[in-house]
Amino acid sequence: MNSRVLLLPDHVANQIAAGEVIQRPSSVVKELLENAVDAKANKIKLVIKNAGKTLIQVIDNGNGINSHDICIAFERHATSKIKTADDLFKINTKGFRGEALASIAAISHVELHTKTKNDDVSNSIRIEGSKIVEQILSAKPLGTFVTVKNLFYNVPARRNFLKSDNVELRHIIEEFHRIALSHPEINFKFFNNEIEIFNLSISNFKKRISSILGSKWESYLVPVEENTSLVLLKGFILKPEFSKKSRGHQFFFVNDRFIKSPFLHHAITNAYEGLLKQGFYPGYFLHLKIDPKKIDINIHPTKTEIKFEDEQNIYAVLRSAVKHSLGIFQVIPSLDFEKNNSFEVPYNFKNVKPTPPKIEVNPQFNPFNVSKNIISSKVEKHESFETEILNIDTDSILNTKLSIESPKENRVYQLFSKYIVCPLQTSMIIIDQNRAHQRILYEDFLSSMTTKKNSSQQLLFPLKIKLNAKQALELDNVKEIIDSIGFKFELKKNHFLKIYGSPQQCPESKIKETLESLLSGENIDHSIKHFSQADHMSKKLAKKLAIRSGDYLEKEELQVLLNKFFDCKETQVSPFNKPIFISLEKTEIEQKLN
Ligand code: ADP
Ligand code: MG
Repeated sequence: MNSRVLLLPDHVANQIAAGEVIQRPSSVVKELLENAVDAKANKIKLVIKNAGKTLIQVIDNGNGINSHDICIAFERHATSKIKTADDLFKINTKGFRGEALASIAAISHVELHTKTKNDDVSNSIRIEGSKIVEQILSAKPLGTFVTVKNLFYNVPARRNFLKSDNVELRHIIEEFHRIALSHPEINFKFFNNEIEIFNLSISNFKKRISSILGSKWESYLVPVEENTSLVLLKGFILKPEFSKKSRGHQFFFVNDRFIKSPFLHHAITNAYEGLLKQGFYPGYFLHLKIDPKKIDINIHPTKTEIKFEDEQNIYAVLRSAVKHSLGIFQVIPSLDFEKNNSFEVPYNFKNVKPTPPKIEVNPQFNPFNVSKNIISSKVEKHESFETEILNIDTDSILNTKLSIESPKENRVYQLFSKYIVCPLQTSMIIIDQNRAHQRILYEDFLSSMTTKKNSSQQLLFPLKIKLNAKQALELDNVKEIIDSIGFKFELKKNHFLKIYGSPQQCPESKIKETLESLLSGENIDHSIKHFSQADHMSKKLAKKLAIRSGDYLEKEELQVLLNKFFDCKETQVSPFNKPIFISLEKTEIEQKLN
């Protein structure tokens, strides 16, 4: 009997594989540009005709290909970029699958000239439908010159499926933008039907954005920067009032590779909440540097989707950094800022080794003798509330939205035992005291939990609490976190908990109910990531311990609260996403009284 199962000939297999990598002319452009970048070129020229349907050329001044590698480079799975499966987790090149040249050569006519620094002349090869038709020596400069003609000449279905030149050109421009934005350190030129449409000189990221989108864009952008042990974030977001009705200006680059991530996009949308008109989209140009071990790029043939090991934490960093930038921009338009890095964003779980917390006690000072326990670390440096040094700390304000016009000393008032009013030079802000304090406590606790640096204070008389069986069980789940925020305790016989130290932010009178609330176990799913658990606990503590509406505050307390608040990473919303303050412009007041 004849065998029915046959191995496909190579050129057919290549054609099928090509379908995954090369869908349209823009896919060829992307792959060839990426190869040029990988070859460390600093000058790359793209030339196309009829939206790439008849001609695509990429000329680079990169490393070139060794003469004996030229034919191999066109084989499927031929790559110089990785050697072992381990290398998949160290990728710092655009390519690594070794599919592009083989795929392109299977469905077009390709000509490649290449010269390395060791060659006297360049080597040229011509391939049509995976078959080598010519291999000669030629005279070309250092680097690689690839020409792709008659794309899909042998796959009529694909060719017929292509859209109009306009549409295909748009796709090509889109790929060009993505790569040009990933690499401002490279000079890119782009010719369409012999007309130069881009000539991007070597520059920085902001200039690159504006040289692609127009010089006005420089004034549309707000910088975003964050540096945590997990991710280094740098880039720009579009000021809300310049947002567009299209999604065209949304760029994430992870380790210089453009990627699509609905999840991270959500983090940004979330940060813009309330700032965009209906139907408008946020714009962003963000570079993320992440340890390649912590991402997986190999999940899609076009390598534009990746998986993150620490997705949740990256989400949190991104959202908070974008919010911070938006916050600053709202009050001080056009400010290029340096952010206060005095406390690292509390997202660095993985690298922090637990250290036994030290109990530091200042015998002169017991903050909980003060009525409302709004004790900032700054206050601890001073002897007591009586001293006159509790002015607004302008250094820390500089890093927040209020830098230009900081409130004058003593010009802080409480309103309705509920709000803090702060007159500035040309406006006035009204802060919700409860939400501001929730924000302070939330960030404090989150920071203690993640850095394991807390300010525990010893109790003069240890407290004893009797736990029930459920609470004792729950203690086992959360004891590390509870310890990290400054509760020092021992579980004795019969579920007796002996507490001899507590967090500074927790007055003695509230220790019992706070611990009980932390041990209630409600809503905590211990299988979820550590960060979510810390986030959840910090919110709980913030809610429990924050000063409330109706609490009267002394002037000094108001100022301490403000100082602390201005030091927060996020000042727009409470941990429960409620707005913390409003600002009233002088002009608004004048208008009202007109
Ligand atoms: P990959 O980029 O995934 O390695 P490709 O099929 O795109 O696979 O390219 C195969 C190999 O050919 C590359 O690994 C590289 O060694 C070589 N190559 C391709 N284009 C260039 C270029 N422009 N300059 C130098 N080397 C190149
Ligand atoms: Mg490649």
